[in-house]
Amino acid sequence: MQIGFIGLGSMGSAMAPNLVKAGHDVRAWNRSKVAQDSVPGGTLVEFAADAFQADVVFTMLSDDTAIREVILDAGLLASAQPGLIHVVTSTISVAFARELELLHEEAGLGYVSAPVLGRPNVAASGQLNILAAGKADAVAAIEPLLATLSKKVWKLGENPTRANTAKLACNMMIAMAIEAMAESVVLTESVGLDRADFFELILGTLFSGRAYESYSAQITEQSFEPGFKAKLALKDMRLATEVSKEIGRTLPMLEAVREGLDKAVSAGLGEKDWSIMADMTVRGAHSLQSFEINSEKKS
Ligand code: NAP
Repeated sequence: MQIGFIGLGSMGSAMAPNLVKAGHDVRAWNRSKVAQDSVPGGTLVEFAADAFQADVVFTMLSDDTAIREVILDAGLLASAQPGLIHVVTSTISVAFARELELLHEEAGLGYVSAPVLGRPNVAASGQLNILAAGKADAVAAIEPLLATLSKKVWKLGENPTRANTAKLACNMMIAMAIEAMAESVVLTESVGLDRADFFELILGTLFSGRAYESYSAQITEQSFEPGFKAKLALKDMRLATEVSKEIGRTLPMLEAVREGLDKAVSAGLGEKDWSIMADMTVRGAHSLQSFEINSEKKS
C-alpha cells in the first residue's frame, strides 16, 4: 500500500519504519531536515502535499496548530489523492477532531482519529496501544496498518472524538499517578524511607500498573530525558480542561496536575520528560510557593 507519513519527531520517527518493514511504500515528510536514513527503505519527500498522494496518510505532528498549518492552511485536503484515508495519531483537541472529521467528509476523504498510548521506545517495537474511532469502513481499511504499529487496536466507535477524549483521559490519569507518587515520596522520605524501597512496596501491593512501573523508575533514577515532553503533556492537560469546561464540570485533580505542568514549563523545563513535575513536587517547588503565598495572606 502507498502510505504518506507526516511528522518524524520522537514518535513519528519510531513508527514510520515499522510500516516500511511491513512491506509498504512509505513517503515521509518532516518540517525540519532529518537524516536520509530516518525511515530506512522509505522515501523522504520534499513537500507535505506529496505524502497526501497515497492510499493512507498518517500524521504524527505535535498539536492542533501544527496540523492546521501543514494540512488545512496548505490546502492539502483539496489536492489529496481521491479516496485517501487520513489517520491522525497525534493527541489533538476534541473540537479540532470534530472539525477535521467534517472537513474530510466535505473533501470526500476518509478520516480516523487514532491517538496512541506508549512512548517512543514502545512505538519503535510496534507495541503501541491505538485508540481508533471513525467510520467503520475507514477503520476496517486501515486496521492492518494499525496492527503493524501496535500490540492492540482499541476500536471505540464511529465518532472520532471518542478516541481523542479517551486519550486525553488516559494522559490525565498518568499525570495524576506521577503526582500521586511524588507526593507519597514527600511523606515517606520525611521518615527516611528510601524511595526505591517505597516504590517496590506499592508496585508489589496496591499499584502494579504500567504507569506506576515506568514512572516510579524515572522518579527513583531522577532521569527526565523525554520520553514525552512536559510541554506536550501541558498541552494535553489543557485539552482535557477544555473538555471539562465544555461539559460544565470542574475536575480538581486535573486542575492540580495542569498547574504542576504549567509551573514546570514556565520554569524552562518543557523539553524534559513530563515526570519532571514529580521532581518539582518532591523538591517542594510548589508547596514552598503556596506556603509563602499562605503566609503572606495571614500576615
Ligand atoms: P516531538 O518529538 O516534539 O515531534 C513533533 C513533530 O511535529 C515533529 O515532527 C515536528 O517537526 C512537528 N511539528 C511541530 N510543529 C510543527 C509545525 N508548526 N509545522 C510542521 N511540523 C511541526 O513530539 P512527539 O513526542 O513525537 O509527539 C507527537 C504527538 O504524539 C503529540 O501530539 C504527542 O502528544 C503525541 N504522543 C507522544 C508520545 C510520547 O511519548 N512522546 C506518546 C503518545 C502520544 P520538526 O522536527 O520540524 O520540529
